[in-house]
Amino acid sequence: MILRHFKELQAFLASPKNIVIIGHRNPDGDAMGSTLGLVHYFEKKGHKAQVLIPNEHPEFLRWMPGVENIYRFEKQNSQAHRSIRNSEIIFLLDFNALHRVGDDMAKTLNAYENDFALIDHHQQPDEFRYMYSDTSMCSTCQMVYHFIEMMGDIDLIDENIATCLYTGIMTDTGSFRFRSTTSTTHRVIADLIDKGAKNDRIHGNVYDSNSYGRLQLLGQALRNLVEIPQYKTAYITINDQEKVDNNFQKGDTEGVVNYALSLSGVVFAAIFIEDREQKIIKISFRSKGAFSVNQFARNYFNGGGHDNAAGGRSELNMHETIEKFQSLLPQYKNELQASYEE
Ligand code: 5GP
Ligand code: MN
Repeated sequence: MILRHFKELQAFLASPKNIVIIGHRNPDGDAMGSTLGLVHYFEKKGHKAQVLIPNEHPEFLRWMPGVENIYRFEKQNSQAHRSIRNSEIIFLLDFNALHRVGDDMAKTLNAYENDFALIDHHQQPDEFRYMYSDTSMCSTCQMVYHFIEMMGDIDLIDENIATCLYTGIMTDTGSFRFRSTTSTTHRVIADLIDKGAKNDRIHGNVYDSNSYGRLQLLGQALRNLVEIPQYKTAYITINDQEKVDNNFQKGDTEGVVNYALSLSGVVFAAIFIEDREQKIIKISFRSKGAFSVNQFARNYFNGGGHDNAAGGRSELNMHETIEKFQSLLPQYKNELQASYEE
């Protein structure tokens, strides 16, 4: 765990400030929950705070409290620039390096002259003036809870804050099932329910809000599933035409990779999603046990993340990307066999 210049940050925040809070590109439940949870907290403390995200969030997070006030750097570019220009500090949530917000926005942030404060659980974070980094944490949302606790303000957590933080803990732990879910996570969750998070509603809003097209796309993805038993590996592909055919909306492929990992005996799963607009194949990796997909994504696919959940990209076409992926597996045969003994 790294906690850098916390006392100084606490002193800085003792009087009202102009604050910008940023989540990563393609924000997920944890990025949205942590930024929105923190913005509600700062507003309660009398600060002026603004959440900025690089691009649009998934449709299934549209119900979250405070979403309507977020600026998307891509769409509300001049408002976003003005907020950054007027801010006295920028909080970076749920990502570990400025390039994770995308080239355009990263350029703006690189030119920023005030300080950054990082709250994040990803591995190998870049250095910032203020840092709270803990790679053992299941989610940035749990860290925002502890941050508010360290600020001595646990009693300020209200229904809105609790709802936001619950959402990100839930989505980043696969509904409290991943190894990163600790007894402390459950204590935090229990407290968030006490403070007003309506757990049944949150689960329903996120997981029972599928469109017909999303389920059809899932059906297609499952038909595309390939298992490679000798490497305990399985992967899924989704090409652009399949997205078009199934009325693809942002967020529709979220979580689909977990179906590949749910195959009995599989310890390494990947999903390859064609993005014709960006001209890349976006990849998600998941693993069970010791095999680190963070290292795999870093080494071969320009990405990173966590030991058991990471992402990356490929500039090759789908066919070439799959060939590259398959050609990498033999050297990991022993590691994959031993990754997760039943
Ligand atoms: P997902 O597969 O759900 O998009 O992402 C899994 C984890 O890997 C998340 O923590 C996410 O932040 C991280 N991740 C996803 N894509 C990338 C990437 O291209 N680069 C890096 N460094 N991390 C990524
Ligand atoms: Mn996260």
